[in-house]
Amino acid sequence: MSSSTTPWPSPTLPLHAPYVIDPKSHRPTKLILTTWNTLAFSYCTPSSHPGADPQFLKDDYREEKIKNVLRRLKSDDLPTIYCLQEVDKYDEVYSKTFAEMNYEISYSLRSTGVINSTSKSPSKADPSTRDRVLIAFPQDRYTLLKRLHLNLDNLGLKYKKFLRNNIATAVALKDVETSKIFVICCVHLYWNPRFEDVKLLQSKYIVSRLKEFSSSFDSYGNMVETIITGDFNSMPTDGNGGVYDFFVGGEADAVRVRERCYDYFYDKVDECSDSLNSMIISSSPRYILDFTLNRLCRWLRLLGFDAALETEEEERGRCERRGCPIFERCRRERRGLVTTSSRLIGRKECPPAAFLIGTSGGSSTVEKSLINLMKFHNVILRPTTFLTICVKCGGKIVEITSSNEIKKAHEMKLAPESAKPLFKCDKESCGQFYWWNERESSSAGRAKSMCAGLFQRCVKEGVRYEEDLGLFKGLELDPPPKSPSVDSRKIPATDVATDPPVDTWLNSTSLINDCGKFLSAYNPGTDVNFTNLTRDFRGCLDYIFVQDDGRVRVESVLPLPLTLEETRGVLPTGEWPSDHLPLSACLSFEDGEHAHGDPEHPGGGGHKADMSCCRPKGLPSLFEMAEMRKEWLKKQKKKEAEEKEKEKG
Ligand SMILES: [Zn+2]
Repeated sequence: MSSSTTPWPSPTLPLHAPYVIDPKSHRPTKLILTTWNTLAFSYCTPSSHPGADPQFLKDDYREEKIKNVLRRLKSDDLPTIYCLQEVDKYDEVYSKTFAEMNYEISYSLRSTGVINSTSKSPSKADPSTRDRVLIAFPQDRYTLLKRLHLNLDNLGLKYKKFLRNNIATAVALKDVETSKIFVICCVHLYWNPRFEDVKLLQSKYIVSRLKEFSSSFDSYGNMVETIITGDFNSMPTDGNGGVYDFFVGGEADAVRVRERCYDYFYDKVDECSDSLNSMIISSSPRYILDFTLNRLCRWLRLLGFDAALETEEEERGRCERRGCPIFERCRRERRGLVTTSSRLIGRKECPPAAFLIGTSGGSSTVEKSLINLMKFHNVILRPTTFLTICVKCGGKIVEITSSNEIKKAHEMKLAPESAKPLFKCDKESCGQFYWWNERESSSAGRAKSMCAGLFQRCVKEGVRYEEDLGLFKGLELDPPPKSPSVDSRKIPATDVATDPPVDTWLNSTSLINDCGKFLSAYNPGTDVNFTNLTRDFRGCLDYIFVQDDGRVRVESVLPLPLTLEETRGVLPTGEWPSDHLPLSACLSFEDGEHAHGDPEHPGGGGHKADMSCCRPKGLPSLFEMAEMRKEWLKKQKKKEAEEKEKEKG
């Protein structure tokens, strides 16, 4: 790791410090890896960055500065790979700048956290506010072999807690000069310091997917190097079992981490989580829908659910951030929240088992949302309760038995004489009359066929239902699927087989990093004291982690300012356009299969005088492979013989 770092000169901030490259290092594969959270334009406001001079938060100013920094971070001597987070204004700022540098870009857009169509078609809503994580590399030096998009919301299929709208992106690159293959992953984990468990599981999910991804490029004599970098929103944890330890130590204690988060999540925020959860996952849940979901709300009512709609006043309340009436109502009335707002669901007071759905309109989306909601909460449809709830207000429809009341309804022309029996919504404020009419064009007929259609499509997609079809006897339906087991504490997922094993991970005493141990290119406390600096926070959140397999060496790192004075306390400044600093490391790699303790590399890094140890090696010829196999078999036989000998003895 780097031994000497000179602080950034202030006020002219950094980056004219050249990368120091050890002239004695003859390793054939070298590169500069740079990570930087550039601070999204949509997050950069005077209120989000108190203490910073507002003129330096303006888009025009920052656009130019960011372009400038990107150009200056590029090394003249070595290929420089960029991993950036919080990238918005992609076309105006990034795409152009990298095109000028002759770079290729691979990125992942932040999803909106849509449960029902996560990987296939992330919602197109609010494209301007969706930032991305991005990897850019010189296209004349690297060939892009494959990309991987990682939607960390996949962890949230079972627990709402993990729905944080975070993403990571990875590429497999081949160095055209040395044929070395790299898997580079750019991550941006959840920000909230009190949700360590979320970040740890996000990390676990990333490495488990990366392991699978990189193993497809692993072939004999051509080891794949994995580099994971970005904004981990985690401080060095000093053996505390958190995200940093997970990478540097190769494992973490999920149970301990969860214990640290437990109070916060279950007791303080979700006082009633148990009862609310079990209410919501009972087979006839009660819902409250945000005010945009009028149509879905009516459909739920048609299907006999107790569904409430957020009022305009309640909506205004939450937008003006005076408490959150809809949350209070969830708790008071024991209702599960259904919303299109990922922002709402991300608020820390949000009650459990809330359900987020896609925002783009159209009845097919609403229908998909309905089906996913039913499956997600493991609902059992009860045809005998269909058409028993007032679609206007959610009240119960009851038969009117008082002849006086029937007479009154006829007199006031609220119901025709032929309407027998006559029904009415039991809510006094509503009082809507209902009666049956088998004619298809009548409102009752239309409601019935609407209901039948929804019922059929739900069943086709695997929603369970009770056998007594009541009014809907004779309707063609697929057979009911077998009922999955229900754990009262958890919301059952619809497709457990394809979900990450969140429960297992959360309960493992030792959560192993699938990609092994990593080196942190910067030594916390020595090379870096902080990478993020605002009025309220100063700490190290960004890292470059390189797989610690004995083949990689950190030759040098870009010096960072180490003391507060050097940055005048708060970022962004007139010199620096983000609240994060960039990390940049010069890495060199051995080719082939050497490891620490290799006799050819005494001292774990020296080379033979003729460099025979580190000359680029291609795949061994078939003949060589046959020889190797013979050798291996011989050794194996000898070993077995020895063991047998031991047993006898
Ligand atoms: Zn009503």
